[in-house]
Amino acid sequence: MGKSAVYPGSFDPITNGHVDIIDRGLVIFKKIIVLVGYNPNKKSLFSVEERVSMIREVVGDNPRVEVDSFSGLLVDYVKKSEASCILRGLRAMSDFEYEFQLALINRRLTRNIETVFLMTGSKWFYCNSSIVKEAAGLGGSVKGMVPDIVLGRLKGKFPDMKMNNSRKQQKHA
Ligand code: ADP
Repeated sequence: MGKSAVYPGSFDPITNGHVDIIDRGLVIFKKIIVLVGYNPNKKSLFSVEERVSMIREVVGDNPRVEVDSFSGLLVDYVKKSEASCILRGLRAMSDFEYEFQLALINRRLTRNIETVFLMTGSKWFYCNSSIVKEAAGLGGSVKGMVPDIVLGRLKGKFPDMKMNNSRKQQKHA
């Protein structure tokens, strides 16, 4: 429990899969810095400020979780912070190759920062920000995939998005 970790990502927006990794990470690390990494040339649905504020609302006032943003080289941020590890989440095998490459390049850039991978809860296996945005953009409900705060913000971007899914009705159909 002695170490802190930086959990970097786009978080565009934060999903319940991300929240699951933060919760699991808090079992291992004394503190987690959730870092919204951004590239000014990359298009995103939510601005960095919106992404940071949504994450802050989701984690609440937990003193063991900090939220920050950064646009440079991740290892430079980690070196300057109190953390010594990078935390990343793994879903399906399809994540593995990219995450493996990322961890290796970060290790090449800085020897003394390790990347720790945590496996997602099976419920969040197919949950990612891109799928959430695509479904919401087409008017589908993503309730249960994202925290309710995020659901409200998605409705602001996509007024036609349904707020409830019809899974219960389908069951009885
Ligand atoms: P990036 O653009 O850096 O991949 P993301 O916001 O998509 O940013 O993801 C940040 C981290 O969270 C990555 O390690 C990713 O694998 C992990 N992650 C995303 N969704 C999930 C999920 N459903 N379960 C577990 N980990 C996840």
